[in-house]
Amino acid sequence: MIVTRFAPSPTGYMHIGNLRTALYSYLISKHEDGKFILRIEDTDRERFVEGATDIIKSTLSITGLGYDEGPDVGGDHGPYVQSERKEIYMEYAKKLVDMGYAYYCFCTKDRLEKLHEEDATGGYDRHCRNLSPEEVQRNLDAGIPFVIRQKMPLEGTTSYVDSVFGEISMNNSELQDQILMKADGYPTYNFCHVIDDHLMGVTHVVRGSEYLTSTPKYVLLYDAYGWERPTYVHLPLIMGRNEDGSISKLSKRHGAVSFQDLIADGYLPEAVVNYLALLGWCPKNSETEFFTLDELKSVFTIDGVSKSPSVFDYEKLLWFNGEYIHKLSPEKFEELVTPFIKCEIPSTVNKARMLELLRTRITKLSEINERMAFFISLPDYERELFLNKKNKISDFELVKTVLTSALDILSATDSFDNDTLFAGLTPLTESLGLKTGTIMWCIRIAVSGMTATPGGATEIMEVIGKDESIARIKAAISKL
Ligand code: GLU
Repeated sequence: MIVTRFAPSPTGYMHIGNLRTALYSYLISKHEDGKFILRIEDTDRERFVEGATDIIKSTLSITGLGYDEGPDVGGDHGPYVQSERKEIYMEYAKKLVDMGYAYYCFCTKDRLEKLHEEDATGGYDRHCRNLSPEEVQRNLDAGIPFVIRQKMPLEGTTSYVDSVFGEISMNNSELQDQILMKADGYPTYNFCHVIDDHLMGVTHVVRGSEYLTSTPKYVLLYDAYGWERPTYVHLPLIMGRNEDGSISKLSKRHGAVSFQDLIADGYLPEAVVNYLALLGWCPKNSETEFFTLDELKSVFTIDGVSKSPSVFDYEKLLWFNGEYIHKLSPEKFEELVTPFIKCEIPSTVNKARMLELLRTRITKLSEINERMAFFISLPDYERELFLNKKNKISDFELVKTVLTSALDILSATDSFDNDTLFAGLTPLTESLGLKTGTIMWCIRIAVSGMTATPGGATEIMEVIGKDESIARIKAAISKL
């Protein structure tokens, strides 16, 4: 059975790159009916942020990436929070020391700092690598603080085959004797994720390509313990486009980079997930780019993952989001957009009709305020707005005539629904000898104060109601 995991560090927010990792990891296992695990990697206590784990869990829940094992759902391989597994790591680190693949290092901070000052790129000089067992024991008995380092082979090469990037090979002489256990008793990421992936039965390690070249160090650990290496699936980098057209690692200056910020800005989780799925993966023989999570489960395979960096395209995400919003049912749209509405909607406004006019026209939920503002109150506008070549309106007298005649009809109309209004105003074409477009142009400007509106004149009047429509038309006439 395929077992994958998502192993985020609780650093405060869900970067969209991390969410893409979670998604791909989830899909790779679920494509094969496998298991997906959530593990919280919180051993770097300096970076730990209170509440960050909740953000991770809620993001997975909102996006539908349910996990089979994890902090709150439990499972056979818990605990799933690394800070609760300290003893396990120490035990395995000591095993490694006994087997000759790791060693105690008692170097003081001062010594290491000095070393760094002398040669910033040289790394650790392996000072403690060959201490005698007696010396080590003496130091331990004396309570001297220690770290445990990995004893890297000094010659030869270490290779592994990544499912996306192919064979990766490193000269062992380039590998540092990295720290596995820190002086505070916590393990480093470099060590504990290997132990956990093995103990939790992870078959496919899916993560960002920043770990591609450190992985030789990790496979050496698997080899040292005699454990089967997992399949590695490193994902391409996510880049952002700079103003000058060049690309660089996606960061805040390119736009929102956290899932929460996108949601707060009115993106739908389904649209984000769909877009992220395509950011580094390409479906085979597919005519569509639209996939639900269930559809992704059935079509997602590792061989569709690309190794070239993916450029995050905010325009494309916005387009996707619009498509998802337009497909919402009116009820669902109202439910989702209501929390974004910042102003009081007057009771005379037909909210349901207004939202229905906007549903197919907005691309993110936060646009709602700006787009609906003219329904709530008439914007200030210049009378020149009425003049229009296409509708052959070149003088204000004509507009005045249209609006005055329309006012008579509207005042005598009780039912302000779109069809009745349209039927009621149509006879004006004959009596005034004008095209419907010309008449509706005048009325639409009068009731909206804008030349481009969601919906036509009668639809707008249906939303704002009789009194407001009449008041706006009267105001227009006095402007002319
Ligand atoms: N905690 C690591 C991170 O958030 C996980 C890397 C991995 O998946 O192995 O980058």
